[in-house]
Amino acid sequence: MGKRIIKYIKKIFYCLTGLIYSGDELCVICNGYSEESEALCIICSGKLRSCEESFYIGHDDEKYLAMSVFYYSNIIKELIIRLKYKSDFICGEILAKYMLELVKNNELQFDLISYVPMTKKALKNRGYNQSEFLANYLSRFLNIKVIRNLIKAEDTKDQIGLSGEQRWNNTEKCFEIEKSQFIQNKNILLIDDVITTGATAFHCAHSLKEKGANNIYVLTIAKSNV
Ligand SMILES: [Zn+2]
Repeated sequence: MGKRIIKYIKKIFYCLTGLIYSGDELCVICNGYSEESEALCIICSGKLRSCEESFYIGHDDEKYLAMSVFYYSNIIKELIIRLKYKSDFICGEILAKYMLELVKNNELQFDLISYVPMTKKALKNRGYNQSEFLANYLSRFLNIKVIRNLIKAEDTKDQIGLSGEQRWNNTEKCFEIEKSQFIQNKNILLIDDVITTGATAFHCAHSLKEKGANNIYVLTIAKSNV
C-alpha cells in the first residue's frame, strides 16, 4: 500500500514540476551540461542510434508495419528502466517526445492509439503501465484518443531466456479485446517500449485486427536484438 502511495506522490510531483519547471540544464543521464530545453547533453545524445528503417513483424500471411525510434543502447535502456521501474516520468516524457517526433516526421495517419497492456496483477504492483504513459503523452499532443480495450488475460512466463519461437508461443492467445465496436475499420497506432522478436506486439495487433480494426502500426522506443 505504502509503495503505491509513493508512486502517486511521484506522479503528482511530476505533474507539478511540469507546470513550474521549464528546461533543466543538466543531462538526465550524466549530469553534464545540456543546452536549454534539451534533456540530454551532446555527448549522451550523440550515443543514441536512430532506427531509421521501418520493418514488418509477423509473416507473409499476416504482418504489421513497425517502427522504432532507436536501436537499443545503454542510454535508452537507462531511460526505459527509470520510466518502467522507478516511476521516473521525466524520463518517460523525454522518450515520449522522441516518439512524437517520429510520428510527425513520418506523417503517420491513424484514428486511435492503443498500447500493450499488462495483467491486472502486474498493473497493481507497478501502479502504472509505461506503454500507456507513452500513449497518453502522444494522445495529448496529437489530439487522438487512446483506446483502452486491449486486455492481457493471462500471465505469460517471463520472456527472458526464451528462444524466438518460444516467445511467439508464450504470448499467443493472451490478449483479448473488449468493446470491439469502437475499433471497427479504425487505423490504430500500437505503442510498446521495446520490440525484440515482435511476438507481443504481433499478438496485440492480431487481436485488434481480428476484432475489426483496419491497419495497425506498431511504434516502440527501441528495437533490440536480444
Ligand atoms: Zn549526458
